[in-house]
Amino acid sequence: MVCHEYFFRIFLIVMLVKTRFLKKINPSLLIPFLLLLLFFSHCAFRPSGTLSQYDSYFPHESPSNLIPKGKVRVTFLGTTSILLDDGETQILTDGFFSRPSLWKTAFSKIESDPSTVQSVIDKAKIERLRAIFVCHSHYDHVMDAPLVAKQTKAKLFGSFSTLNVGLGSGLSLEQMEKFQPGKPIAIGKFTITVLESKHTPPFRIFGKTNATDPNHPNIDSPLITPVKATDYIEGGTFDFFIQHGKNKILIKSSTNFVEGAFDKIKADVLFLGIAQLSLQPIPFQEQFYQQTVKTLKPKLLIPIHWDNFFKPLSEPLEPNLQLGDDFESSMKYILKRTQEEKLEVQLLQGFETIDLF
Ligand SMILES: [Zn+2]
Repeated sequence: MVCHEYFFRIFLIVMLVKTRFLKKINPSLLIPFLLLLLFFSHCAFRPSGTLSQYDSYFPHESPSNLIPKGKVRVTFLGTTSILLDDGETQILTDGFFSRPSLWKTAFSKIESDPSTVQSVIDKAKIERLRAIFVCHSHYDHVMDAPLVAKQTKAKLFGSFSTLNVGLGSGLSLEQMEKFQPGKPIAIGKFTITVLESKHTPPFRIFGKTNATDPNHPNIDSPLITPVKATDYIEGGTFDFFIQHGKNKILIKSSTNFVEGAFDKIKADVLFLGIAQLSLQPIPFQEQFYQQTVKTLKPKLLIPIHWDNFFKPLSEPLEPNLQLGDDFESSMKYILKRTQEEKLEVQLLQGFETIDLF
């Protein structure tokens, strides 16, 4: 437990002391109440699952250095950052590598950390990157994408909001392209089709929500960092359908769906965002599974957006904090459903690599 998290808890308690609720509470109950609060806050900052339980779902060997001709290799870089590589061309989703701490994200302005971003580029061998696709413009997806584009000379693809994040970082319009959902984009041997999607249902932590203000749904001017995390407005959410030869990949970063969006496609591999899946009502979970796994009929499912992105990528990934997620229950649900259909599930650690096809 880092000391910042203790400060965070103390801050919460101080804030609560200031509220009317605590002023009204019977003084004799105040100490037991605060102790209880401390206990619950202790639980809130623990990972919402234990990865050792899922050991058999992680690959235990890495492929050899050379990518065989015609194969597609994936490297997982936390949250929804996925690097695809066929030996000639690399494409990346999001590229969120700075991962500022919870303390910093909650209480100060944030911005990309160039040395962290460069260290991930080096470690993941991002050396022939042609394109970055950003699924939406919350900070945990878009924040580092312009810097990764700058440092690798890759083109940044995104929504109007994402392009404004790029402009704020000094990226030229020539190095960016606005999404045209449904229109295939050829990059090397990859063909990417951007599909309209939906963000994970909004949530509230300590009275704050991540829901988009309907009166201000986009980042509508260049975003010059550092800014508050809440200045990164969603700006629409998108999925990516990627074809490589006869093989098909679907990357769905958010835990939500547009009904019928996948009715006409199939995918061999599905990267499925599971953040907060088990916090949703059961009918939602069933519909989500139906509209994604059941419809796309993948042979392999790789859960994503399950890791605590307040921790650096240089450390082993841990499940999201109990504060805002329940990894254990989400995995239980996914494994129960996929076992019924004998569908393979694979988890990947940070920087872990497998050959998909
Ligand atoms: Zn988001």
